[in-house]
Amino acid sequence: MKLLVLAGDGIGPEITSATVKAVDALNHRFNLGLTLTEADAGLSSHARHGTTLTEDVQAQVMESDGVILGPTDSLIYPAPEDGGINLSPWFRKNLDLYANIRPSRARPGVPCLAKDIDLVIARENTEGFYADRSMYMGSGEFMPTEDMALVVRKITRDASRRIAESACQLAMTRRKKLTIVHKRNVLKLSDGLFYDTVREVADGYEGLEVDDFIVDAMAALLVRKPGAFDVVVTTNMFGDILSDLAAELSGGIGLGPSINAGRDRAIAQAAHGAAPDIAGQNSANPTALMLSASMLLAWLGDRHNRTDLEDAARRLEEAIDAQLDDPAGRTVDLGGKLNTSDFGDAVARRISG
Ligand code: ATP
Repeated sequence: MKLLVLAGDGIGPEITSATVKAVDALNHRFNLGLTLTEADAGLSSHARHGTTLTEDVQAQVMESDGVILGPTDSLIYPAPEDGGINLSPWFRKNLDLYANIRPSRARPGVPCLAKDIDLVIARENTEGFYADRSMYMGSGEFMPTEDMALVVRKITRDASRRIAESACQLAMTRRKKLTIVHKRNVLKLSDGLFYDTVREVADGYEGLEVDDFIVDAMAALLVRKPGAFDVVVTTNMFGDILSDLAAELSGGIGLGPSINAGRDRAIAQAAHGAAPDIAGQNSANPTALMLSASMLLAWLGDRHNRTDLEDAARRLEEAIDAQLDDPAGRTVDLGGKLNTSDFGDAVARRISG
């Protein structure tokens, strides 16, 4: 099985290097037969090849079973016509990665604002307000005059149905509780369609408890009683915002993992950005990307009926939790003493030990 590793920008090379150490240790210990190939993508690729994503790397992506992608600093990318391909939307569009799965869980011993948080946000990933990926051709955002900017928010029954299926299946493996988040009091047609479609899908899952909240109420409830939620399904932008809130409640943005999954492929991607303010200092917390890699292994295990990959995924998460439980064994953002590479080494040792 082939995994492609793309370091990305900012802290990307540091946190992917720590993550690769851990996955290598799993590969060895569980005899997984994974081939990890590292390739260049992002600003370093642009400097070398004039594009952030070469055709060669695009072909490698298509041949891989999964990708570990470091964060990207797309805000400072050159224009697309000058080689600045924005990687996240490229992946989401070209691999049709419709489900962005973002768990937030309080970790043993790690200080956090919400001690009982243990939820997963299933965010629709291909449409909504995301102008750069929601259209077949052209952008969903445009300016009819220099003083007017418009954006089209796209919601379809098909995309709502498939994220609903992912969310319901996930909820059935957890506490069997699904919360639909929407703004259908205002966006009566579009969020009405999303809500009705998700309800219809959820009705097919026996024993699944379903409730729903308007997004602003949900933001307040996440702070007031985070432990009340299990799987939360929502549209693209609401999911983006709520998952950062949930990650922060669970101990910080450096802890928030995610996978972007389609029918045949998935990519592991931390929920945080490239953190240019701390890049190159070997101080970033690699936990989010490492946990994302664990999610990718679990996803691959499920897809390919391979319990060894699922066991490896669990081992990685347990090793990270054990490492985080030691106050001195954390990275500096969590008040610990370790740098990025030492943290990666320590987790790899726990896997091998
Ligand atoms: P994006 O819009 O691409 O998600 P952003 O501008 O919202 O990015 P981040 O790059 O995620 O922001 O950084 C926000 C803050 O969190 C910064 O101060 C950064 O240093 C910090 N941060 C982000 N990721 C980590 C990490 N893995 N370890 C430590 N600090 C981090």
